[in-house]
Amino acid sequence: MASSLTTYRKKRDFKKTKEPAGRKRASSKQLKFVIQQHAARAMHYDVRLEIGGVLVSWAVPKGPSLNPRTKRLAIMTEDHPMEYGKFEGIIPKGEYGAGPVILWDRGTYKNLRDVSMKTALKEGQIEVFLRGKKVRGGFALVRISPKTTEKSKWLLIKMRDEYAHARKNPVSSQPESVKTGKKISDWKKKIKEMEKKGK
Ligand code: MN
Repeated sequence: MASSLTTYRKKRDFKKTKEPAGRKRASSKQLKFVIQQHAARAMHYDVRLEIGGVLVSWAVPKGPSLNPRTKRLAIMTEDHPMEYGKFEGIIPKGEYGAGPVILWDRGTYKNLRDVSMKTALKEGQIEVFLRGKKVRGGFALVRISPKTTEKSKWLLIKMRDEYAHARKNPVSSQPESVKTGKKISDWKKKIKEMEKKGK
């Protein structure tokens, strides 16, 4: 069977980008998740869940909401290697996904369903409890496209629990990286400086 990272690697030239080539890993005891803010052509938040030793990924244009009434569109993207969960920096101009990336949140998660994460993914019905620095509590990912494939459409919805909140919005109130404290705007400034120097 082809590695689920084949698409990820095909899209990138690792001589030009600092993103990791990576490889499939054994599953962690504590399953990991990461949310990366990514200012590509359009700003979005990449929500990634460790499933089967890779980071299964969705691009969420508006980022997660803590309000159970707010459904956020999530477009499935190619699986990423576990190492990607540490990546923060600049994807160079001309490369796939060019623009700055920050580690907006990260932590561990628990599967809330009584089927495996792989089955939940295939069924298009994921329910997880996220333990991040900014985002906590139950979240559902519900597929609205007919099949679980790259570019399939899903909805990211906060489940009703004690961590739900109608107004709190960490996307706007906590824009900084959990790794470096940098914001997307700091990286954008750096890109401008580099361009001035002709790098
Ligand atoms: Mn992205």
